[in-house]
Amino acid sequence: MELSQRATILTPSLTLSIDSKAKAMKAEGLDVCGFGAGEPDFDTPEHIKAAAQAAIEMGFTKYTPSSGTPELRQAIADKFKADNGLDYKPSQVIVSNGAKHSCYNAILATCQPGDEVIIPSPYWLSYPEMVRLAGADPVFVQTREVNGWKMTADEFQDAMTPRTKMVIINSPGNPTGAVYTREELQAIVEVCTDEEILILSDEIYEKLTYDGAEHVSVASLSPAAYDLTITINGFSKAYSMTGWRLGYLGAPEPIAKAIDAIQSHSTSNPCSFAQKGALAALKGDQQPVADMREEFDMRRNYMINRLAGIPRVSVVKPLGAFYVLVNIGKLGLSSTNFADRLLSKHHVAVVPGIAFGNDSTVRLSYATSLDVIKKGLDRFEEFCRTL
Ligand code: PMP
Repeated sequence: MELSQRATILTPSLTLSIDSKAKAMKAEGLDVCGFGAGEPDFDTPEHIKAAAQAAIEMGFTKYTPSSGTPELRQAIADKFKADNGLDYKPSQVIVSNGAKHSCYNAILATCQPGDEVIIPSPYWLSYPEMVRLAGADPVFVQTREVNGWKMTADEFQDAMTPRTKMVIINSPGNPTGAVYTREELQAIVEVCTDEEILILSDEIYEKLTYDGAEHVSVASLSPAAYDLTITINGFSKAYSMTGWRLGYLGAPEPIAKAIDAIQSHSTSNPCSFAQKGALAALKGDQQPVADMREEFDMRRNYMINRLAGIPRVSVVKPLGAFYVLVNIGKLGLSSTNFADRLLSKHHVAVVPGIAFGNDSTVRLSYATSLDVIKKGLDRFEEFCRTL
C-alpha cells in the first residue's frame, strides 16, 4: 500500500522518542528527572472546570457553530481589544482545537506549492511540518545566541526570495524563551509591508513574560501590520488547559472566512463544553494566571543561576515561556547524543535541540516542581563536568 507523499515527508517527532524512553525508565521504577514538559504542571483553575461541568449537566453537548460559539468569539474579540489593542470583530475570530490547529488552519488557508515560509530557527518543531503539509517549503533563518536567538530584520531580508509568502514569529518563543521588543518587531514588519509578506504571529505564551518584558502583538503595530498578520493564541499555556484542546486566531476577514470554510469541512466545531470552560477562563478571575507566572519566574531564576555556574555551557536569560535553551556546543557531543547519555546514565530527560533545528543546544522546561529542578540540575551539572 502506498502512502501519500504528504504523509511520508513528515519527520517523526524526536521529542516523543526521548519522552517514551523516559517514561519506560520511570515505569521500571527509576527516579527520572524530566525537563521535557511542554505544558504547565498546574491543574486547570477550579472555576473553569466548574463551568465546563455545568455545561455538560445542562446538556450543552451538541454541535456549535464550526468557528466557535458567538459568546466565546465575542469574549475573544474583547480580550484582543483589552490585552492586545486589536480590533477584531467576532467574525474575524476562529476557535479551533488548540493553537496548533489554529496555526495549521492558517497555513493551509494561505500557503501552497511554490510558496516559501520563513521560520527563525530554533523553532517550534511543528511549524516546518505544517508548512510541508500545505505543500509549501520552509526556509530557516539561523538566529544567533548573541542576538538572544532572535531573527534580525536584516537576516530576514537576506532569506527572502520572490517565492516568500509568510514569516512565522513566535514571541515569547518556544524553545528559546526569547521575547521580541517592539522595535525589533517593527523592523520585521517593515520588511513585510514592503513585500506584502504575511505574518503568522504565534502569541500562545503571551501571559508568561518576566523581568518586565513587554509582550507586543504584531498586528497592533500599524494598520499595514494588521492587514498582513494572523494572530494566534489559546488557552493551553495561560490557563493550564492543554488537554482541553482550545486555541484561537484573529485574522483579516477574507483569511478568517477561508479558515472557517476549511475548519467546517475538516473538524467542525471545537468541543462544546470546553468552550464554556474557555469563556469562564476569559471572563473569570485572572489571579491563577498571575500565580502560575510567579511560580514559573521563581523556577526560572533558580535555573538560570544554577546553569551560570556550570563551566562550558551558556544560556541567554529567557524572558518568556517556560523553557531554557542551553548551549552545549563546547562539550563536544551532538544534542541527541548528549540527551541520550544524560538520560541513560544520570536519569535526566531533556529535549535535544536538533528537534528545533539547532544541534548545539538542549531544551530544559521548568514546568516541573522546584524539587525536581534542583535534583535534575545537580545531575545535569555532574554530567557536564565529566565531559
Ligand atoms: N505554539 C507553540 C509555540 C507551542 O509551544 C505550542 C504548544 N507546545 C502550541 C503553539 C500549541 O498549543 P495548543 O495546541 O495546546 O494550544
